[in-house]
Amino acid sequence: AHEEALAARSKDDLRSPICCILGHVDTGKTKLLDKIRQTNVQEGEAGGITQQIGATYFPREALEQKTAVVNKDGKFQFKVPGLLVIDTPGHESFSNLRSRGSSLCNIAILVVDIMHGLEPQTLESMRMLKERKTPFIVALNKIDRLYSWKKIDNNGFQDSLAMQSKGVHQEFEKRLNDTKLAFAAEGFNAEVFYENKDMRRYVSLVPTSAHTGEGVPDLLKLLVTLTQERMAGSLMYLSEVEATILEVKVIEGLGTTIDVIISNGVIREGDRIVLCGTDGPIATNIRALLTPAPLRELRLKSAYVHNKECRAALGVKIAANDLDKAVAGSRLLVVGPDDDEEDLMDDVMADLQQLLSKISTTGRGVSVQASTLGSLEALLKFLKDSKIPVANIGIGPVFKRDVMMAGTMLEKAKEYAVMLCFDVKVDKEAQQYADENGIKIFTADIIYHLFDNFTAHMKELTEQKKEESKLHAVFPCVLHPIQVFNKKDPIVVGVDVVDGNLRPLTPLAIVKNNAVTGLKEIIPIGRVTSIEREHKAIPICKKGQPSVAVKIEGPNQPMYGRQLEDKDIIYSYISRRSIDTLKEFYRDEEQDDEVYEEYLAYKDNRYDNQRQQKRGSGKWPSGKRQEWIPPFW
Ligand code: GDP
Repeated sequence: AHEEALAARSKDDLRSPICCILGHVDTGKTKLLDKIRQTNVQEGEAGGITQQIGATYFPREALEQKTAVVNKDGKFQFKVPGLLVIDTPGHESFSNLRSRGSSLCNIAILVVDIMHGLEPQTLESMRMLKERKTPFIVALNKIDRLYSWKKIDNNGFQDSLAMQSKGVHQEFEKRLNDTKLAFAAEGFNAEVFYENKDMRRYVSLVPTSAHTGEGVPDLLKLLVTLTQERMAGSLMYLSEVEATILEVKVIEGLGTTIDVIISNGVIREGDRIVLCGTDGPIATNIRALLTPAPLRELRLKSAYVHNKECRAALGVKIAANDLDKAVAGSRLLVVGPDDDEEDLMDDVMADLQQLLSKISTTGRGVSVQASTLGSLEALLKFLKDSKIPVANIGIGPVFKRDVMMAGTMLEKAKEYAVMLCFDVKVDKEAQQYADENGIKIFTADIIYHLFDNFTAHMKELTEQKKEESKLHAVFPCVLHPIQVFNKKDPIVVGVDVVDGNLRPLTPLAIVKNNAVTGLKEIIPIGRVTSIEREHKAIPICKKGQPSVAVKIEGPNQPMYGRQLEDKDIIYSYISRRSIDTLKEFYRDEEQDDEVYEEYLAYKDNRYDNQRQQKRGSGKWPSGKRQEWIPPFW
């Protein structure tokens, strides 16, 4: 059926492209939408702009009127029947406009504040647009804030710019240039729209003001140009229904409804539909196809008009039974006479399955919860790029069972006992359970904030562990004794540090050949409790520095004159654990390269064998060798 539908398409029968607005918070997305929608008073009511569910529809006549000021000779020809602009700006709607891994959004406006340049969410948006291969144009907004800008409401940009002072021109040129450079740094060529000769290779920058409306006609004209020139193929009308759920909403008197964008085909009241639900596929019949009542009819009882059928592209509200568990971002399929409903169910669930297949196979990772399929997908992609492993995923509010899932990490990998929640509510009981059991829940409505939360969480854990590990971190050193001041409890001995660095708390040992067995034996002698030079405590004594007096304390200390001899070389007592600790926490500290090499040698097990052979005499008792090697032999 899909092939037939494809074959029946025609270039003469184009549907309206769908447009989304993305960008950083406060760049003016909402204001710009308002301005685009606004009827141009001087030119009379712009014909037929209709408010739909989740979108505004601009028929060709309205577009022609709105762009008249930049099409005075009427040379520009409109081929598309109209333009459907999604009303909720931002990532969420963009990421929910999806079908079989591609975007149903045909074209996007990326709003950038000309005074601020590229901001974190701008970059996030650019990544998503690139990933979905969605063409976009940039609204370089708030030009009215250029110092001493003189406005002409709703004017074409070039005409307005021509009226400005030299100072405005200079500031504009500078900001434009900075923006181009910033785009280049992100791998995009960008050019102001009237100098863009190749829309395939260069992103067009359209200076706009959502306050004065300047540049808005250019923006609309360019949107249409770009869709007509680049996308006629994907805009050919298809009889097959292509639709996606933007939002799931409870409406008084209607129950749970779904707001759907129909990007292709015709949908009718009574149609059998299939969609993805949190607890499995949902199949139901369309009870009502609703669009908002026109403003002048609002005094009527219902806010909605019932439709017998709707033709793409448009936004409608669908009322039907069993929609409570519907997932926003899911595709909506219509069961045709030749279709097998079960097949379609598998089809819609595949989108969620496919996400499940992307999560960590080691079973170690954070838990992720998002409001919609689209945002979950975007979040997973982002976490993958940020190298944060994910073990569990979920859609919808966070409940106790979700937290319990995340809690399974407490045993496996404590640092991942974390929930990263995007745009979802956390149930009270769930939060309480999390608090009691030490599971962190981070919520945010901006994806990259979750990354910041998680990074801070990891840093905190590392600091904590580093603090706890101080006793295990043993830096290798070798001490030559000069004079024993006190034989035992505590041992006090004057030494030269001949290799490595000596620090307080370092455990020390001496290696002896056992007279009876002939095997080598490690005799621990305690931990360094102070290092003094000329009666002053110092925090570290490095190799080659003047001699120091070391105080060594510990339980069951051996005694000089009995187990120990004055000339015995003293080593830092290194264990496998201390090596692991150093590698984990002290990688970046100075001297580490050298230290590190020692460890690698140790790990290879070559090091101690070679060194031991060199020494010739004595053998390690088997098994013991693994536990300790004196460094720098
Ligand atoms: P959004 O978060 O991207 O939707 O941004 P809004 O549309 O809510 O705008 C954020 C703020 O910027 C508001 O105070 C707007 O009045 C202001 N703003 C938006 N567009 C413009 C513009 O073109 N010029 C000026 N001067 N201010 C603007």
